[in-house]
Amino acid sequence: MRGALMLLLALRRVHAFARPAVLMRRHTTLTAKPALVVWDMDDCLWHPEMFTLSEMPSEGVRGDLNGRGEGVVGVRSGSDVIRLFPDALRVLQEFWDGEHGSTKLAVASSADTPFAAAIAQAALDMLEIVPGVTLRDVLCRGHPDGTDNIWIGRTPPLSSDKSRTHFPLIREATGVAYDEMLFFDDSNWSDHCAIVSQNCPGVVAQRTPRGLQYSEWVSGLKKFAEAKNKS
Ligand SMILES: [Mg+2]
Repeated sequence: MRGALMLLLALRRVHAFARPAVLMRRHTTLTAKPALVVWDMDDCLWHPEMFTLSEMPSEGVRGDLNGRGEGVVGVRSGSDVIRLFPDALRVLQEFWDGEHGSTKLAVASSADTPFAAAIAQAALDMLEIVPGVTLRDVLCRGHPDGTDNIWIGRTPPLSSDKSRTHFPLIREATGVAYDEMLFFDDSNWSDHCAIVSQNCPGVVAQRTPRGLQYSEWVSGLKKFAEAKNKS
């Protein structure tokens, strides 16, 4: 009986000591944030894919920006409309609101043709995140003027392999190391997530096969924090 009591007391003591460590680990998990979030565009932040479009954007489609007022929620290209996925808009609004501290944004998109890339570049200047603030404004927020943080296309210096061209260029332009980057890509055609993780060691990647869902955003942040805790 006395032996069992002693054992119980000893276990409680061990548990009491173990607790702060657990709390500390949880705290680290919550606070490890990437310095840079790198986005694929087509089928990750927006749809449809640029190679399916045949006309330069003509006019904006106005509508409700997720309860933040009326703005440009779509961009017409012929009979198609380029739109952000609803959760992508939500996450980008969080960035504009400063909810993600010093984390900055970049784009690594391998749009198929120079024309597809030109459509994408035009849409960045038209789509709004909150009224009067364009998608490009949000993507460039926090970067010194002139930083080349947006790479769209696959003609030189780019290629269809983001790990060999887009990522080295983004690292050079921003000065952010690979192990400080979190990358989102639908990876439905080619597994850019796996290729980038392999060739750019340290980049944490999250797939978004149905366009960015909020749960994938959270899961990406969690994966990044876990990777940091291990290193
Ligand atoms: Mg894509």
